[in-house]
Amino acid sequence: MKKISNINFSDKVALIRVDFNVPLDNNLTITDNSRIIGALDTINYVIKSGGKAVILSHLGRPDGKFESHFSLINIIPELSKLLNHKVEFLQNYLEKSAVEKIETSEPGSVFLLENMRFNKNEKLGCESFAKDIARLGNWYINDAFGTLHRDHASTSKIAAFFNNKKSIGFLVEKELLALKSVMKNTNRPVTAIIGGAKISGKIDVIRSLYNVVDNLIIGGGMAYSFIKALGGEVSRSLVEEDKLSLAKELVVEANNKNVNLLLPIDSVNGSEFSNDCLINNSDIYRIPKEFAGFDIGEKSIQLFCAAILKSKTIIWNGPMGVFEMSSFENGTKKVGFAVAEATKNGAFSLVGGGDSVAAIKTFGLTDSVSYVSTGGGAMLKYLEGKNLPGLCAIED
Ligand code: AMP
Repeated sequence: MKKISNINFSDKVALIRVDFNVPLDNNLTITDNSRIIGALDTINYVIKSGGKAVILSHLGRPDGKFESHFSLINIIPELSKLLNHKVEFLQNYLEKSAVEKIETSEPGSVFLLENMRFNKNEKLGCESFAKDIARLGNWYINDAFGTLHRDHASTSKIAAFFNNKKSIGFLVEKELLALKSVMKNTNRPVTAIIGGAKISGKIDVIRSLYNVVDNLIIGGGMAYSFIKALGGEVSRSLVEEDKLSLAKELVVEANNKNVNLLLPIDSVNGSEFSNDCLINNSDIYRIPKEFAGFDIGEKSIQLFCAAILKSKTIIWNGPMGVFEMSSFENGTKKVGFAVAEATKNGAFSLVGGGDSVAAIKTFGLTDSVSYVSTGGGAMLKYLEGKNLPGLCAIED
């Protein structure tokens, strides 16, 4: 795989696919800029060697059309501050004027294109759209670790238009190195902690993790679908009704594969989705009417932390509850501290995924884990041993 460290970008226009899918609050303030920081080395390398950088990314999940809060123009101030360099925004990047603007710009110029996902052809992996974007440059760099598992126009399809003029960036290089080292030296027991809102996006990952792990801990909103599938009364908790039979299958499969599947035992419940609502604690199988589970309870914390502290390899993706609200942060926080303690005692801990990264940052644990990955889905897919389309496209 071609790396960029041997390439001189003088007189070149490098299209750099990055992952600026950063969390924004209601005032459009970036709450975690790790992904932008992660891409700086590559951008700086291109412009310092005399090339022009044309940056491509997506932000959020717009439905193939413009949505102002997902516009990448919101990222410009932070990006130019971190780069200490002017960044020009190209909203209508498919118009001829965009090519002219890039062509007539000074060496070292930096452009940021509008959100790729405002065009429905991005997620469809449309080749003609990829070809249109490819016209903007003469070299392609993929430094978007977080989207390497996507077969989209700007993450994989575009690479076909660059023959041998394509490479991975420094961030992807670093992430792959860290993941390879986990795969090579997996000391047992291996524990995966999977949380977050929904099961739907993580089914395949859970299945493949069964082949790798000794313990699989499930927390967060997704746990309530498992509990309901096992006959629990979860009242108004987040449940994916259409995933209940699948949740049941996953429990049976864990048993067949000798994986110790750890589900929460108790729950911290709220009367509404707010930090100041009425709160109670209950057995997770008997959540009071009109309440929804927003965090794991103390007994679950003890159960999970005991397994974590005995582990030698820990993979964490997804919070244990609504950690953004102080009333429901306890589970994620205590699990985070247990991961940090296990790491101090010699375990290798890998944390990935926007929300888990934001959580460990909130609790000041970033330096207490072995490696923080900028990509959750891509990290898990790689650990599953699956091909990542964004990587394959650079390799061929
Ligand atoms: P994901 O993107 O699927 O990893 O989900 C992360 C989000 O899940 C975070 O914003 C959490 O606030 C949310 N979350 C975690 N636990 C719960 C829960 N019990 N109910 C609702 N949302 C939750």
